[in-house]
Formats: sequence, structure tokens, C-alpha cells
Amino acid sequence: MVQHARREAPLECCGLLTGHDDSVDEIVCCSNENKSEVEFSIPPSELFEAFRGIRQRGKRLLGIYHSHPRTRAFPSAKDLDEYHYHAIGYWIVSLQNRSPVVRCFRWEDNTFQETQFQVLENR
Ligand SMILES: [Zn+2]
Repeated sequence: MVQHARREAPLECCGLLTGHDDSVDEIVCCSNENKSEVEFSIPPSELFEAFRGIRQRGKRLLGIYHSHPRTRAFPSAKDLDEYHYHAIGYWIVSLQNRSPVVRCFRWEDNTFQETQFQVLENR
């Protein structure tokens, strides 16, 4: 996710996280059709293809991520307005500081609540 964010900066990048149960083991990089530094949108056709691939590989959609090239790793007002995937994790990669920051949120009680996650070693 961080590599993808760096590759696309100063534009926002976006993509999907898939895996099994609650364990993410795959990143699906998508394109940001807005080509924007402050918002993102995955083209519907790409999303459709991605969902089909996820199903074919027997995986589950666990999260959606995007980057904030210049701002902190918290949902923006725009993110609050546009978030429509309430059952999955909402990940944000911030490149604001020298060390990238990754946070995960879930939509609960009509707002984003930060959730903890654990990074496991490469297997
Ligand atoms: Zn955002």
C-alpha cells in the first residue's frame, strides 16, 4: 500500500484488500479515475473486474484503501460523504511525514472508528 501510494504521489492512490476471515493477504491496486490529490474513485468497470477476480480466487473483500499524499491518515470530510462500504475496513496511507502512517477505520455509529491491526511477517 505504501509503495503504491509513493508511486502515485502527489495523486491519491486507491485499491482493495482481500484475504480470508479477518486476515488480509492480497492487495489489488486500482486506478484513481479522479486523478486527484484530494479524492479518489475507482472506475466501476475496474471494481466489477476486481470483485469477479476476488470471487474466482475464493477470497473475501476485507478492505478498501487510499492514500493521503499530503494530509494525515484520518478520513477527510469528502471521505465521510462518499464512503459506502460499511462492512469492510477503510484504510488510509498518509505520506504527510517522512515515515508513512497507515490507519484502519470501520464505519460504526454513523462515523469512522479507528481499528487496530497487526502486521504479520511475510510467509
Ligand atoms: Zn481520503
